Amino acid sequence: MKYQIDTVPIWDAYLAEPFCPLCLLLLQEEERVIDRSLGASVMEPDERIQVNEMGFCSYHQQLLYAKQNRLGQALMMQSHLIEEEKKMNNLLSASPVKRSFFARKETGTVENKKTCISCSRLEHKINQHIYSLLNLWQKDKAFQEAFLKSNGFCLPHLRLICAMAKETMSAGKQADFFDALKIVQNNKMQTVREKLDVFINSFDWRNAGKPLNDARTALEDAVNMASGFSVGESPLKNVK
Ligand SMILES: [Zn+2]
Ligand SMILES: [Zn+2]
Repeated sequence: MKYQIDTVPIWDAYLAEPFCPLCLLLLQEEERVIDRSLGASVMEPDERIQVNEMGFCSYHQQLLYAKQNRLGQALMMQSHLIEEEKKMNNLLSASPVKRSFFARKETGTVENKKTCISCSRLEHKINQHIYSLLNLWQKDKAFQEAFLKSNGFCLPHLRLICAMAKETMSAGKQADFFDALKIVQNNKMQTVREKLDVFINSFDWRNAGKPLNDARTALEDAVNMASGFSVGESPLKNVK
């Protein structure tokens, strides 16, 4: 898949100094994707076909619902459920057993299918941002400096970055990039783990009354490191 390079959002995300710049970009893209789903695109035939076919995961249904555009979401569900009714009846028709359920699960034909149009769009957007980030890092010394001073990435986004760097960067550039990434990630991991220790030890009665300082958000930081932004103060809060 071809990706466009757009370095402006990458710089903007780094200037906001969030924990994971890709989590920040993901939240911004998610806002747009959800607004677009409920906006004029509800009536666009191409959009309707895709929504009808894929639908939304539970999390994105919740985000759509929170917007309280009840008619917009109802219209999407109206045509989506027509498609789903056909699938439901295919599911409900008995057929002779050809392969065992467990064998099919291992080869992953049915269960791994993407079933959310927003998840699928966001995956593409994030890959595009990672592509731009890697490009910017290779071309801009000022960005390399900002990168070294940054807070690093959550682990799910780190895995995506490492995979794309290995796929798209020359061996020489990769070596330099991974050196920088190792410094940034290990600094962050150490800080998160140290704060978590302080937080857990604060439950010991011998530490009663000791101030927690920045270990107050240790649990949230640890969860967000392990799983991407999930809990606590949104990274969007520091963005104009
Ligand atoms: Zn992230
Ligand atoms: Zn989704």
